[in-house]
Amino acid sequence: MDVAIIGAGLAGLTAAYFLTQQGFNCELLEKSQALGGRMATRRHLDIVIDHGAQYFTVKTPAFGAFLREVGVVEAMCPLAAPVVGYPFANFATALAEATRETSDVGSEFPDRYIFRLGMTTLAKAIARQIGEQRIVRQCFVEAIIWDSATRHWTLQTRGDNTTLGGTRQADCVVLALPAPQAAQLLERSQPLPAAITALQTALKGILYHPCLTVIWEASGTGLYPGVGALRATTDTCAIGWLAWLNRLAPERVPPGIDINIAQLTPAASQALLDQPEGLVVQALATALSTDLHITLPTLRWLQIKQWRYANPATTFTDTSVLTAAAEFQLEACGDYFLGGRVEAAFLSGLAAAERLCRRWARSDGSVGPQRGDPGPGSQSQMPPG
Ligand SMILES: Cc1cc2nc3c(=O)[nH]c(=O)nc-3n(C[C@H](O)[C@H](O)[C@H](O)COP(=O)(O)OP(=O)(O)OC[C@H]3O[C@@H](n4cnc5c(N)ncnc54)[C@H](O)[C@@H]3O)c2cc1C
Repeated sequence: MDVAIIGAGLAGLTAAYFLTQQGFNCELLEKSQALGGRMATRRHLDIVIDHGAQYFTVKTPAFGAFLREVGVVEAMCPLAAPVVGYPFANFATALAEATRETSDVGSEFPDRYIFRLGMTTLAKAIARQIGEQRIVRQCFVEAIIWDSATRHWTLQTRGDNTTLGGTRQADCVVLALPAPQAAQLLERSQPLPAAITALQTALKGILYHPCLTVIWEASGTGLYPGVGALRATTDTCAIGWLAWLNRLAPERVPPGIDINIAQLTPAASQALLDQPEGLVVQALATALSTDLHITLPTLRWLQIKQWRYANPATTFTDTSVLTAAAEFQLEACGDYFLGGRVEAAFLSGLAAAERLCRRWARSDGSVGPQRGDPGPGSQSQMPPG
């Protein structure tokens, strides 16, 4: 049973991991060179920087067990330094009021966690387990074409560095992309069966907030020593999250360097999308001055990462369209099923793998259509599409 999984963020990697374990022949197609999607880590001047997700929770036993299984628990460290709410009238008072962020005290993983060497630690560990040969990087999937006669998908790809683009076949496709990108892919794939067009409409209805992340190293001493991050407590601030994660994991930077990471709020990010760097820096300086009464120091360097689809504003609840799409061997997963978090992406990838296993697992332990049976959703059982 050949499964093409589009998108190697945590949802897609998780689906690939569990499906491979169950005997499915998976291929992961990822448009970028790096794995992990919004769990993004980049290296700059020997400094490890998380451009996307900053930390993660482990609230479910399933995620805890998975982290242990793929061998990354040793690489985790708790977000132990205070996260201070702002704006504040008096920093010392705000610091005294800041509590260590914990979830579910008493569980094995009660804190918020980072990976010492960056968020991509998890993606790399999963990739090792499922096998690099199953992953095609720099492979943008343009369209998926359904053949109702053979009940197969053909994927049209661009920029595949192995086959220089072209087509690939699969029995089943898993869309593991942010909902707007999945909807755009289905738009490029028309005409499609009515059930898939209904899924496309539902995906189009899921809105995502953008997020501009600004990262810089300044000369002079760092801001707010001893603090891990500041978090805005009102939506009047333009910076939602201002962090110094290197203070939690000194392995990230050479000694004496403090890296500042500012995530702009959805409203501020929306206003600055596709704007020149100068305007973003100006907005950052204004926000620091207005909200924190800080002057932006002289910068050694600065980077801006623009996430057009950072966090889902709504979640996907219409399971009937998903069930109808499954008749055409199409599945979907991603953080938008459970709400904009790393753990949500994991859980949705796991759920998609479980749905596929339920549909296709044979009683003898192998996977695929039952012998003499063309499989669930075969033409005899299906509405015409
Ligand atoms: C700035 C920022 C801060 C965040 N902070 C936190 C946080 O602190 N804690 C937390 O829990 N969560 C946080 N999140 C959310 C978290 O990162 C996501 O919920 C999670 O990583 C989503 O995983 P995913 O697999 O669903 O999607 P993604 O990670 O987006 O993966 C989708 C993949 O699909 C690929 N792709 C897209 N189109 C195509 C195509 N046509 N062909 C092939 N590949 C394609 C993309 O390149 C990407 O790799 C943050 C997100 C952002 C952006």
